[in-house]
Amino acid sequence: MVTHLLMDDEKENRIGGAVGFNMRTGDYHVFKAKTVIVAAGGASHIFKPRAVGEGMGRTWYAPWSNGSAYALPIAVGAKMTQMENRIVLCRFKDGYGPVGAYFLHLKTYTQNANGENYEKKWYDHTKNLVGEYIDHHPTPTCLRNHAFIQEVMAGGGPIQMVTKEAFQDPHLETVGWENFLGMTVGQAVVWASQNIDPKYTNPELTTSEPYVMGSHATCSGAWVSGPEDLSPPEYFWGYNRMLTVEGLFGAGDTVGGSAHKFSSGSFTEGRLAAKAACKYIEDKKAEGIKVSEKQYTDLKEVIYKPLENYTVGRNEITGGTVSPSYISPIQGLQRLQRIMDEYVGGIATNYMTNENMLNRGLELLKWLEEDLENVGAEDYHQLMRAWELKHRTITSQCVTEHTKFREETRWPGYYYRGDHLKLDDENWHCLTVSRRDPKTKEFTMEKVPVYHIVDDKKEKKAS
Ligand SMILES: Cc1cc2nc3c(=O)[nH]c(=O)nc-3n(C[C@H](O)[C@H](O)[C@H](O)COP(=O)(O)OP(=O)(O)OC[C@H]3O[C@@H](n4cnc5c(N)ncnc54)[C@H](O)[C@@H]3O)c2cc1C
Repeated sequence: MVTHLLMDDEKENRIGGAVGFNMRTGDYHVFKAKTVIVAAGGASHIFKPRAVGEGMGRTWYAPWSNGSAYALPIAVGAKMTQMENRIVLCRFKDGYGPVGAYFLHLKTYTQNANGENYEKKWYDHTKNLVGEYIDHHPTPTCLRNHAFIQEVMAGGGPIQMVTKEAFQDPHLETVGWENFLGMTVGQAVVWASQNIDPKYTNPELTTSEPYVMGSHATCSGAWVSGPEDLSPPEYFWGYNRMLTVEGLFGAGDTVGGSAHKFSSGSFTEGRLAAKAACKYIEDKKAEGIKVSEKQYTDLKEVIYKPLENYTVGRNEITGGTVSPSYISPIQGLQRLQRIMDEYVGGIATNYMTNENMLNRGLELLKWLEEDLENVGAEDYHQLMRAWELKHRTITSQCVTEHTKFREETRWPGYYYRGDHLKLDDENWHCLTVSRRDPKTKEFTMEKVPVYHIVDDKKEKKAS
């Protein structure tokens, strides 16, 4: 697992490599490098998941999405963008099975508990919040979520997917099951355990906890240079996909501001990043990098400290497993998830937050960060868990700072700023960019313009 990036000791803000440890043997690895590409996925498990207790660990986005993709660059002062833009998924309840595939392939539809089409009911209400965005086709996903959440709060739940009609066709029934057996086998198991056959029972839907990632329909991630041929001059700083740290590149979930990459877009972006990184080296931009032995031996001590915390602290335990001196990674994770859930717009508050809650969340996150100096790891697996937790915590701080900065509700259904409940194009039709000072750990925020490469108003006229 990579835990830290190395920096050039000679030239400020230039990359020098990365360090990490082997999760099976515990060996320490030092990679001195002329360029680094971060492609470590998104961030799940930063908000408290719906699946707790016996379902713990079940999430919609990948469980290895541990926030490293964001924490690694944030820690060395790289700029991030749109980190407030988390996603909430409408999914089959308890198994997180995909509903989009059902809409597309089976032409199924949703209804409230009384069999009514509830989305129409919330049209005027939503228009009042977001204006003409509600008239876009297809309806933006967050706005469909918004109708779902409002309907449940108004007492119309549970919301169901109408499968009983489509599943009478044997071909569609097979497709319906294969959708899960190929992608989310757990959903089929949940249905079996709850005696649900979608041919005879319309299954229940729910909205998930929020996720942060740069490839799957949200814009959160690193602020990178655009490509030479398309970018406005100030958004191109020499090498496509290079972050604001020289020689540091990103791809996939790591990179913000380019929301619809998914799998093929992510690996294509990886190729673009690799080509640009090679050009950076060919252009002799990576000459004379120095990484001192002190830099990586100091980091070695930091990385293995959780093992030391455990080895020393466990001697104070007189009964049970709770130590007066260290917290375990799972305790820290659950504390993080509650902070994010209750203050930053998770399921506990129906995705609602405001400036006061965000300030309190930031305060609690700071204390958590301090306490994570005392996280204890009993083996290398737990050491990985400790570092995942630290990475998720830095990511969460950035998400919270961004959510506080954007004083509007641009994505109702993903989260709500109760103190700024409407979409505000006049002030916030922009990208948000943050930077955390590596020394002081303080964030600074700025707005940067959105450039419409394709003028959608002209396009509409033409069509
Ligand atoms: C349920 C679900 C369904 C999806 N369906 C589709 C679909 O139908 N079509 C589609 O195109 N896309 C789909 N996607 C999206 C697609 O999976 C992602 O967009 C894509 O995987 C992102 O690629 P990535 O390389 O950025 O991250 P990932 O594929 O997540 O790869 C990140 C890698 O980094 C590793 N890593 C993390 N931290 C560290 C660290 N500190 N050190 C070392 N390694 C680390 C992880 O273990 C992982 O292997 C789906 C995603 C989900 C969750």
